[in-house]
Amino acid sequence: NNNQVLLEVSNLKVAYGGIQAVKGASFQVRQGELVSLIGANGAGKTTTLKAITGTQPAADGSIRFMGQDIKGQGAWDLVKQGLVMVPEGRGTFTRMTITENLLMGAYIREDAEVQADIDKVFSIFPRLKERALQLAGTMSGGEQQMLAMGRALMARPKVLLLDEPSMGLSPIMVDKIFEVVADIHSRGTTILLVEQNASRALGLADRGYVMESGLITMDGEAKALLNDPKVRAAYLGE
Ligand code: ATP
Repeated sequence: NNNQVLLEVSNLKVAYGGIQAVKGASFQVRQGELVSLIGANGAGKTTTLKAITGTQPAADGSIRFMGQDIKGQGAWDLVKQGLVMVPEGRGTFTRMTITENLLMGAYIREDAEVQADIDKVFSIFPRLKERALQLAGTMSGGEQQMLAMGRALMARPKVLLLDEPSMGLSPIMVDKIFEVVADIHSRGTTILLVEQNASRALGLADRGYVMESGLITMDGEAKALLNDPKVRAAYLGE
């Protein structure tokens, strides 16, 4: 079913000590969608992803994945179920090769198609194929972002969470990364994309949510948000 809600966050609240970073956020991601969550620095986007993936506890609200309540579950179990995040800053294994990093992404799997999936990742990222035996730590920032995305794909995500994949990259690499996000989506992966680059993120997305000070303040079709004067003024520098 193409309209099935895969990820449903309701009234999520997350605090760091006394600081309320997320104050009651609600949003949904449906099967096959690319949904962008945009917002300024410090709006609470990363914290939202951390709560979903179990790396930061939620103080309140509910998080449902494929119909199950997953609040409080650890990242390991969630990856096994198909909820996979590429964190901000990437977190590649710097002293391992590209291929070894990709194999780590498939660590949870017990099927026989891992090698075929490495070939698939190499077809999405020819750059990784060229450098299969290079140590990840010697790759450029953009290449490491590709590797982190490739590694996440090796877990066969049902929903892929991307945290600011374009951050800190050169303009050419930014183009490349957004191209690849669109490619991964067109191959059938459901994606929640967190980005400060609002125009690019909404340009690719089906739908979008705007986060401000820990709350979702706007949502809608991505094109409608892109044309919304308030979004344009606040996030597109107009
Ligand atoms: P960015 O794009 O800068 O990552 P963001 O929208 O992802 O922004 P968060 O990183 O989720 O925002 O931060 C939301 C708020 O929570 C900010 O005020 C931030 O200072 C605070 N915060 C984030 N991590 C911590 C932490 N580990 N301890 C205390 N406060 C934190």
